[in-house]
Amino acid sequence: MKVLKTESDLHQFFSGLRRGRKKIGFVPTMGALHDGHLALIRRCRSECAVTVVSIYVNPIQFDRREDFEIYPRDLEKDLALLKKEKVQGVFTPEDAVMYPPGFSTRVRVEGPLVQGLCAPHRPGHFEGVATVVARLLGLVRPHRLYLGWKDYQQYRVLERMVRDLALPVQVVGCPTVRESDGLACSSRNLRLTPEGRAAAAAIYRALKVGQSMIQLGETSPKVVLEKIREVLREEKDIKIQYVEAVDAETLSPKEALGPGTLLACAVLIDGVRLIDNIVVESGRPEEFFSEKGGKTP
Ligand code: AMP
Repeated sequence: MKVLKTESDLHQFFSGLRRGRKKIGFVPTMGALHDGHLALIRRCRSECAVTVVSIYVNPIQFDRREDFEIYPRDLEKDLALLKKEKVQGVFTPEDAVMYPPGFSTRVRVEGPLVQGLCAPHRPGHFEGVATVVARLLGLVRPHRLYLGWKDYQQYRVLERMVRDLALPVQVVGCPTVRESDGLACSSRNLRLTPEGRAAAAAIYRALKVGQSMIQLGETSPKVVLEKIREVLREEKDIKIQYVEAVDAETLSPKEALGPGTLLACAVLIDGVRLIDNIVVESGRPEEFFSEKGGKTP
């Protein structure tokens, strides 16, 4: 495994590999790696000859400076994990490599994809994400880009950016990896108190209740969203930021819910912001009622 810090490290790495016909897969991360990241990396490893992972805490995507400062960083541990996964290249740039003097470009996706969900609560966030990923793609030039559905809006925004700018990369979306009680894996989970961590299981439970209502034929957003809020409110430690039902492709609000609906929410627990979502497929709702937990959708 090679640790690459600069643009010229990347050039050397790829010329050493004689990139020619080899399929290169890329997994951008902010480090503090967990099972969710590892699932993306394993998928990439299974589909590509060369896997490159980046670890970079991108300052321009944080709407609050203190969030950026307290973001967990443990490079040693991450590198040990990546070595075990047999990743060939890890790109760990400093700020001056990502944003060298004179850097003046911003990439901004507009329209319904960034009108709801997290966008109004995190001004500038998706612009920061699109800008950093566009530059990372320019530096690494992968054939495939692996993104998690855990950050579903980010996935759709980046997919749109790739299409609109005709970037020569295939976007691969990967399912959300969850803890045994359903909570989506996230580096932020470590910041929860034991009580907060227990309460956090209600997020997925609430989304699953919404999903099964829709699968049973409920079409009213008002009814479904109110039920989800009700389940969340059963936990006094949960503060709801938003609960929304939108079209899973366009992210526009949906008037009648059905298959193809994305149910998504953001909550605050112990001051930690957690997001999650579920896409409603046409399925058999009985499966939900007989489920014993620990199963991913
Ligand atoms: P981050 O390090 O939070 O920027 O995430 C890097 C990538 O990992 C993004 O594409 C995320 O969507 C993805 N990711 C984070 N958590 C999970 C999870 N629990 N399951 C699947 N993918 C995830």
